[in-house]
Amino acid sequence: MPALVSLRGVSRSFADGDSTIRALVSVDFDLLPGELVAVTGRSGSGKSTLLNICGGIDRADGGSVRLADVDVAGASPPALAEIRRRHVGIVFQQLNLVPSLTAAENVALPLELDGMSARDARDQALSALAEVGLRGRERDFPDALSGGQRQRVAIARAVVGRRRVLLADEPTGALDARSGEQILELLRAQADGGRAVMLVTHDRALAGLADRVVELRDGVIASVVERSTIGAVLSDPWSR
Ligand code: ADP
Ligand code: MG
Repeated sequence: MPALVSLRGVSRSFADGDSTIRALVSVDFDLLPGELVAVTGRSGSGKSTLLNICGGIDRADGGSVRLADVDVAGASPPALAEIRRRHVGIVFQQLNLVPSLTAAENVALPLELDGMSARDARDQALSALAEVGLRGRERDFPDALSGGQRQRVAIARAVVGRRRVLLADEPTGALDARSGEQILELLRAQADGGRAVMLVTHDRALAGLADRVVELRDGVIASVVERSTIGAVLSDPWSR
């Protein structure tokens, strides 16, 4: 199965006064349909930079990035925006739900902004909400929902319109442990349903349901652990 996201030798630096921050250094990374990849690492290790480049909302300044089999470096800004809209959904810790819109209206919004009819957008929003376990809450406003339910609305909005790449940046950061686990299970289900899912988290315990755990350290991939060995590594205190 071809990767939906493929990075080779990707670097990204930021100017910081007179010096340069090397946020990513020569990173190779693939995200395939059907897999959940957790990206861990301390604050400042480059996790969000990696996610933003995978999602086409930031550009690498070295190396190559392919998104849904398109070379991002060669794509014009409108072409890149189109690839992003068609294929990529992103969930942030700050959900950015519109408080004056219902759950269904929040989820339908990106489709309507894409020019879909209100009726079709609503149909797709309702099925996305059902998929994340929010049947019956479609007419609720964000204020009436729990933190975990609001995060589900944000996930529904990210995947609506059958986007196949789901990128989540610290999506459980604001949630209690139980709600966090439920979000994780939902991301796992999205991957099992065929989406390519990337979870950024500084909490290694949350990486347990992932097929692969990639650890970033100072912008470099310090380790990659595949599923068969994840449990063993996480439970072995000597492996840290
Ligand atoms: P993480 O998500 O792991 O906390 P980030 O990817 O946000 O890490 O940041 C990696 C490094 O790049 C940090 O040193 C951060 O300060 C820096 N950085 C990220 N984005 C910017 C930016 N837009 N401008 C300047 N520095 C940035
Ligand atoms: Mg971050």
